[in-house]
Amino acid sequence: MIKKSKNVFLVSLGCPKNLVDSEVMLGSLEKSGYNICETAESADLLLVNTCGFIQSAVEEAVEEILDLAEIKKQFPDKQLVVTGCLVQRYGADLQKEIPEVDLFIGTDGFQNLISHLESLETSPPPVLSPLVTPSFVMNSSTPRSISTPSHRAYMKITEGCSNRCSYCMIPALRGNLRSRNPEDLLKEVQIHEQSGVRELTLIAQDLTSYGLDFGRKDVNLVALLKNILASSSIPWIRLLYLYPVRLQDELLDLMAENSRILPYLDLPLQHVSDRILKLMNRPYSLVETQKLIERIRLKLPESAIRTTFMTGFPGEREEDVDTLAAFMQEFELDHVGIFTYSNEEGCKAEMLPDHCSEEIKEKRKDRLMELQASISKKKNSRFVGKTEQVLVEGISQETELLLEGRTRFQAPDIDGCVYINSGECAPGDLVNVTFSEAHIYDLVGEIV
Ligand code: SF4
Repeated sequence: MIKKSKNVFLVSLGCPKNLVDSEVMLGSLEKSGYNICETAESADLLLVNTCGFIQSAVEEAVEEILDLAEIKKQFPDKQLVVTGCLVQRYGADLQKEIPEVDLFIGTDGFQNLISHLESLETSPPPVLSPLVTPSFVMNSSTPRSISTPSHRAYMKITEGCSNRCSYCMIPALRGNLRSRNPEDLLKEVQIHEQSGVRELTLIAQDLTSYGLDFGRKDVNLVALLKNILASSSIPWIRLLYLYPVRLQDELLDLMAENSRILPYLDLPLQHVSDRILKLMNRPYSLVETQKLIERIRLKLPESAIRTTFMTGFPGEREEDVDTLAAFMQEFELDHVGIFTYSNEEGCKAEMLPDHCSEEIKEKRKDRLMELQASISKKKNSRFVGKTEQVLVEGISQETELLLEGRTRFQAPDIDGCVYINSGECAPGDLVNVTFSEAHIYDLVGEIV
């Protein structure tokens, strides 16, 4: 039996979907008497929930594990547990290479962390042979300790992904699409509303594929959103990870009719060159993408569009990057993340010919980042003199002299923010701010 009042120190890496898994683990630990502590030194349990879908994430995770393994060497009574995508990918190797780790758990099983810890008291940790394909799907009664500020939360509506983008490891690490039950999601919305959430962000690998695995016409993203709107009064509902080909007019129309669904579209495009999109196994074209952006702008003229592009995909030529730059210039998207292709062992793209050098990948990324910086500055300057609703996050991380918040067009943890230089407010307040300054990513203004 676990001794009451132990401390846990958590490092949660990767995306908001992995953060929700971390919150599930914290929830079950708290339920078993653990307290969450801020330093590894004061913890009994050191927990790292890893990301592992690209090499840079793998390196970051291994570094975090080794840092905590050093602390474990000094304090052998501490337990070190590593979970998540890195374990799903390299579990057996890690077990051999980092013996300081007491327990490795992949992307399924973290929900039973307590029983795994209890079994450690009587038997050695399970030997990790290739890990099972994940099947777990959380629900509204899964213990969870929300780690985001109390005025906002993520709601993960599916697990896994059934798309097969040729550069992506996620289906192999997270399994195929598994949608959560719509009634159960509404229960979770109630829980968030009762705990004071003002901004609920819906997340998934591909939000638009919600319900496809149910094979029922009435289970889909639009139906879910209509029920969330009808059964709650949460003022801000944000959508992340929309898959371009599944972004239907029905969703755009619902967004146009309901300002509680924020006019913010996170739409990972990855590229716009037809030849590269084909090699990526992304089933759309430049023309279709142009039409999609035009449709969005027609139905949601004030909306902000976020996307990601990848440079240096195998076979990419300068003219493909020219096509991408011309598209960025023409459509001036609000938020653009540029990543270099990461050649992942086990991905289809690994087998493609004509891989680009790291130098070329970086050169192309820099060129597009520079272009986007001028576009972002221009787009942001349209807010100067204007007044927008801002969700207050609290004292700025930059300086105590400023407060920080975000507009409807700025997602948490990925986009710029608003610095508030005058006016009274508290975290979670929705206030009106008139902007006096615009920078590449951030805005400055005062409460009116
Ligand atoms: S949509 Fe593509 S890139 Fe995104 S998780 Fe699925 S397979 Fe990976």
